[in-house]
Amino acid sequence: MLPIIALLGRPNVGKSSLFNRLVRQNKAITHDLPGVTRDRIYGEATEDEVRFAVIDTGGMLPDAAEHDGGGMDRSVFQQAVEALDEADVALFVVDGRDGMTGLDQAVSEKIRASGKPVLLVVNKVDGPEQEAKALADFHALGFEIAPVSAAHGYGLSDLRLRVAELARPFVQPAPADGPELGLKLCMLGRPNAGKSSLVNALVGEARQIVSDIAGTTRDSVDIGFEKDGRRYTFVDTAGVRRRAVITDHLEKLSVFRALSSSKRADVTILVLDAVQGLSHQDKRLIAYLAEQRTPFMVAVNKVDLVHKTRMDELRAAYEEALRICAHVPVLYVSALTGAGTGKILSLAEEIRRECVIRIGTGQLNRAMAEAITKHQPPVIKRRRAKFYYLTQADEDPPMFVFFVNDSELVTSAYGKYLEGQLRKLLGIRKAPLAAVFRSSH
Ligand code: GDP
Ligand code: GDP
Repeated sequence: MLPIIALLGRPNVGKSSLFNRLVRQNKAITHDLPGVTRDRIYGEATEDEVRFAVIDTGGMLPDAAEHDGGGMDRSVFQQAVEALDEADVALFVVDGRDGMTGLDQAVSEKIRASGKPVLLVVNKVDGPEQEAKALADFHALGFEIAPVSAAHGYGLSDLRLRVAELARPFVQPAPADGPELGLKLCMLGRPNAGKSSLVNALVGEARQIVSDIAGTTRDSVDIGFEKDGRRYTFVDTAGVRRRAVITDHLEKLSVFRALSSSKRADVTILVLDAVQGLSHQDKRLIAYLAEQRTPFMVAVNKVDLVHKTRMDELRAAYEEALRICAHVPVLYVSALTGAGTGKILSLAEEIRRECVIRIGTGQLNRAMAEAITKHQPPVIKRRRAKFYYLTQADEDPPMFVFFVNDSELVTSAYGKYLEGQLRKLLGIRKAPLAAVFRSSH
């Protein structure tokens, strides 16, 4: 888990602008779920060798446009409180041109009460000459102040350094991910989907392994166990913990955070709640995991509560949602009765085996020849793609590169056909797989 820096403050002070500035260098790993830019609330950055996560609470306010900045709004508070709860360090953002408002004052009290380290970021100080005037109001709050301009870049490199310094004490030692952990699994899904119950169901009947890596806090968050002579570890289960009240905002935060655990795991188990049906959030998670080529399965939980006719409807909905990654297996389970749970571990093993598969050149090229003979590439502007050879460029997950005379001649439909053939001929049915086409002369 990375140190978490939360951007707090009333709407329009420039939190989103600052967020973009802070995570800028790391665009590629910004958790930017497809579709909704407003959900772009979690990003990662590295400064001075400190890697940290940044949470933006700005884009979450649905009626931000209606705010004049002076009024009180409960959702601003709610968000501030929740983000604070998750955060290690608070960046309290205010608008240096507006001066202090009542809402700023109120937010500042919440932050102070949390006892967490705070940096008061006075934004919209668009040049050094504006600094004295902009800061005047805010000294009274007694926080350490950083004057910046998210729009023009003023003060930002100092801000980044200071944030890294404040985050440093919260850096956790890298987990010891040695082979003794066995197969690393991670539960992902909305709060209350049944992640903890499933972990309990799987670990309960197995022999639990007490970690022998002494003196680390990892022990409490990784749960290791042994089943049929094989070792497994559920990693970062702390992210799975339950809470009394789950708001939409909190849900997003916890799901976004859990995504980083899924990078640590060999196989992710996306737990969906059959009673709740497929939510928008679930669909975005699926899209995200597919896009990242995460090896995962879907466990539709609580089937004990769902009537058969409703189950058929659900099946159709899951199938539709998984069309973008049709290889992903779906299990229907009940953590309560144990139905279906017996297949989870063997399925995870199967996915893992496919992920680390290595296929020799001979077999690859026989597969390629067979696929092309069965179904020739289409003719495009009187030309047809000519395939030279196929290699495996990577594993975990596997990536295959086709060398062709001109990759432009490989239509997306034909590319999909070849990918499907590879899956079939090489026996990679459940793991993510990449097929890439490269021109070679
Ligand atoms: P948020 O609601 O707190 O996330 O605020 P935004 O990042 O959306 O910014 C609100 C408005 O302030 C936008 O119109 C920004 O262009 C503007 N803004 C943000 N930072 C600065 C700045 O440093 N200087 C000036 N002049 N405008 C800024
Ligand atoms: P988490 O937040 O994803 O870890 O969810 P929990 O494991 O805490 O489960 C949330 C609630 O759903 C709890 O009240 C569980 O008892 C209940 N629950 C979990 N799995 C099942 C199931 O398979 N069937 C039924 N009927 N209830 C379940």
